[in-house]
Amino acid sequence: MIDNLLLATRNRGKIEEIAPFLNGIVKDLISLAQIDGLVDIEETGKTYEENAIRKAESLFKQTGIVTLADDSGLEVDALDGQPGVFSARFAGKDAADAENNEKLLNLMRHVPVSDRGGRFRCVMALAMTEETRTFEGVVEGEIALSPVGIHGFGYDPLFIPHGYDKTFAELGNDIKSRISHRIRALEKVGRFIKTI
Ligand code: IMP
Repeated sequence: MIDNLLLATRNRGKIEEIAPFLNGIVKDLISLAQIDGLVDIEETGKTYEENAIRKAESLFKQTGIVTLADDSGLEVDALDGQPGVFSARFAGKDAADAENNEKLLNLMRHVPVSDRGGRFRCVMALAMTEETRTFEGVVEGEIALSPVGIHGFGYDPLFIPHGYDKTFAELGNDIKSRISHRIRALEKVGRFIKTI
């Protein structure tokens, strides 16, 4: 159990997914949206790990609060792992989710159903006084032929996790919060925090 944890995100979708999970492991969960004047780094690294570590360490230095940062993305096999670390800005800087989804579907318009595999991957970095630790989670699935569903964010309307025949955006938070890449990484974070 730790007293304070800074969650290095302003993304409401992510906060809603992560916060319930840390109940009972962290006393006070603070998000970036609650602290003014913090300088957030640009995600310019080549890997999720590099981005997550830089973000967590920079905010830990600025606040002195143990910081959990994540970087995540969608990797599509038929596109050699794209959009990957560029997931958030696939269709350009500040692109809307719908624009990113449209670009992905366009690039995949000739890819048959049998070859639409991919995965969400998440790397979390926990920056503390002693060290920075990283934790990874993955969920495998398929890319749908068109967007379906209203829940979640990002590529959720296009991602059908293995074992289901609906997208994350149809399945909603109850199921997503059991099997998502972020939750799988977070389970490892939780197990680690319980040891300190
Ligand atoms: P991040 O905020 O830098 O980690 O960017 C991750 C990007 O990957 C998001 O903006 C989404 O486009 C995509 N992404 C990551 N996790 C998810 C998810 O759980 N659902 C849908 N899209 C996601």
